[in-house]
Amino acid sequence: DMKDWNAEAEALYDGGFRRMFIGGQWCEARSGEVIEARNPADGSLLATVPRGGAADVDAAVSAARRAFEGSWSKWTPFERQALLLRIAERFEAEWEDLCLSDTLDMGMPIQRTLANSRRVLGMLRFYAGQAVAIHGATIPNSFPGEIYSQTVREPVGVVGAIIPWNAPIAGSVWKIAPAIATGCTVVLKPSEEASLTVLMIARLMQEAGLPEGVLNVVTGLGAEAGAALAEHPDVDKIVFTGSTATGQAIARAATGTLKRVSLELGGKSPVIVCRDADIEKAVPVAAMAVFANSGQICIAGSRLFVAREIHDEFTRRVAEYAASLRIGHGIDTGTDIGPIISARQADRIAGFLASGPEEGAQVLTGGGRATGAGLEGGHFFQPTVLGGVTDGMSVAREEIFGPVISAMPFDTLDEVVARANATPYGLAAGVFSTHLGTAHKLAHRLRAGSVWVNMYHAIDPAVPFGGMKMSGYGREGGTEHMEEYLDTKAIWINA
Ligand code: NAD
Repeated sequence: DMKDWNAEAEALYDGGFRRMFIGGQWCEARSGEVIEARNPADGSLLATVPRGGAADVDAAVSAARRAFEGSWSKWTPFERQALLLRIAERFEAEWEDLCLSDTLDMGMPIQRTLANSRRVLGMLRFYAGQAVAIHGATIPNSFPGEIYSQTVREPVGVVGAIIPWNAPIAGSVWKIAPAIATGCTVVLKPSEEASLTVLMIARLMQEAGLPEGVLNVVTGLGAEAGAALAEHPDVDKIVFTGSTATGQAIARAATGTLKRVSLELGGKSPVIVCRDADIEKAVPVAAMAVFANSGQICIAGSRLFVAREIHDEFTRRVAEYAASLRIGHGIDTGTDIGPIISARQADRIAGFLASGPEEGAQVLTGGGRATGAGLEGGHFFQPTVLGGVTDGMSVAREEIFGPVISAMPFDTLDEVVARANATPYGLAAGVFSTHLGTAHKLAHRLRAGSVWVNMYHAIDPAVPFGGMKMSGYGREGGTEHMEEYLDTKAIWINA
């Protein structure tokens, strides 16, 4: 019964973390204003969070600067490593509450958040290892005599992190963990649609011994707190995940102070199913490449290119699979497809479900909102497969961020590579083929930051992830991620 879950939410959010976190203190916005955090599954009010503005961002940046230049800079890499490992322990102990919060606040099915634990705990432990692996080099030079040159790696400083609502746990940890590993400090602005779990994360980190000012969380709106952070002269680096349009606004705002920027943006990722694919294995993976988290994932494989010989059979089976998915509240462990985050996003999806058929696409399954008992208070959509899509249709060009697959046949590999790459985005791609040569050829020719062959979705703390083209620049994961938070200093010594 939802009422019980919302009572549970009361208990979860009644602690200090209805407030935001600045300089180790839990505080209200200077304006005193709040924004509502509602459960997208039923519209109920979970809590309110402060509506932080420029003054709050300023206070948070000052706290982050003081910590960066003060006691935090004296921590050894081994102490930072130990802290990350303690944070991982705290997370593991509170994992179910974290997942419950995520599900209540943004609707992600609980089975998915619980299953994500390995990755998020792995992130903390991976960066714990990276903390003690930072090192420079001694470099031979062209100068005669005893002149030595070496490099040292230094943290970039105060990092402003801005994240979307679609994966608050992984999204925030993937920004904070490398900052702790390198010795940076952070001001994090979560999405106004999903701040509660991020505040809970700050609380767990505080409990694990994170010193004051190393992490600050300012809740609030993008145009207020977010813009203030992107423009702030005392922020050294912005790490952003979100839409391409906002990424462009942030890159523009950052030019004023020439702060460094990394952007993880949107996508319209192709999934290519070749004639020789293992259809049995490919059907559920190609379906979930879009339907996971109701399509609200940046890497959604939303353009499904299928070899003409198998196109009709394959799309029919994907449609059958889609129709078998269970729609419901995320807290029900049987739910595959949870609610859409907001009315605004739901209207956007509904717009594509109208324009697709208007432009000539056929609805193979789904095609509209899901209604029925228990779904009244939220925005739910049927997992949808559109057939007869052509490259020019809006459903084939624009990021829908909902459970909609646009299926299209192809004839040759050269043709499908050209069509798959004919998008401003370059975040991810999937290839299904049992032929080694075909798989390699496609993987190398697709312009995307991640290509999965005979699988999809894999993201790992040790493996770099990020976009090409208008899907952004910079990488998260792997040693590449550490580079984003480090500067190089050359030191010359005349002995
Ligand atoms: P969004 O761009 O609207 O918002 C993202 C964040 O930016 C939010 O915290 C928001 O408050 C803030 N923001 C908005 N305007 C701002 C401004 N002018 N200045 C500073 N901050 C501002 O995106 P969203 O709707 O929350 O998320 C969906 C988008 O995120 C999709 O396009 C999706 O593809 C993308 N995404 C990308 C990745 C990735 O890793 N590439 C991951 C998840 C989501």
